[in-house]
Amino acid sequence: MKILGLQKLTLLDYPGYVAAIIFLGGCNLRCPFCQNSSLVLTPDSLPEISHDEFMSFLKKRSGILEGVCITGGEPTLHAQLPDLIRDIRNAGYLVKLDTNGSNPEMLQFLLKEGMIDYAAMDIKAGPAHYAKVCGLSEEKTADLLEKVDQSIKLLKNSAIPYEFRTTAVRGLHDDSDFLEIREWISGCKYYYLQNFRDCPEVLLPDHSFSAFSQKEMEHFLELVQLRIPEAALRGI
Ligand code: SF4
Repeated sequence: MKILGLQKLTLLDYPGYVAAIIFLGGCNLRCPFCQNSSLVLTPDSLPEISHDEFMSFLKKRSGILEGVCITGGEPTLHAQLPDLIRDIRNAGYLVKLDTNGSNPEMLQFLLKEGMIDYAAMDIKAGPAHYAKVCGLSEEKTADLLEKVDQSIKLLKNSAIPYEFRTTAVRGLHDDSDFLEIREWISGCKYYYLQNFRDCPEVLLPDHSFSAFSQKEMEHFLELVQLRIPEAALRGI
């Protein structure tokens, strides 16, 4: 497992904590709006940050940083993830995990072992649009949906703080997604809606995706808040 990116400081990604972010390569989804396409499609082309270099960075930032966000790609695909987390925790840091929810077995293990302190899980779309939004065949998506559902239940029943979140993309999402999502995850406390931002790294090169207007995002939020009152917009 290679660390393919390090953001040395974030005040936004780990709610309430000053943190760094590390990026692991590879993903089992192909979301056409993904903004980390090189991590997903060509991880071997990216320079690696060695484990020793990263641990030495953490040692130097002790007392300044409080946590490490592990993101991707999809971090839970790596069997060595628990070892990495163990090293980060032994260095005195909290761990936040970002996941697409496709690996409930790994998530369950990490929760059971008390290895993560916060989890942020993507809900890509309502189930009816999941295949289109995650870029898989209908057949593979049926399997994925079962796993995502298991991951939702694991987090809802866990003792750690967590959030669900959706990136809304004009061209992929409409009202029906948020009506379905609000039923699917109802009972959760924190759900964030973020808006699509175009960039050169977007996975589908010739896309026609765009961001929704502020008014449209507020409309989606109102739909969701009927079941999840504390849902909020993020970064808008
Ligand atoms: S946006 Fe989709 S393809 Fe990109 S890293 Fe996340 S789950 Fe993988």
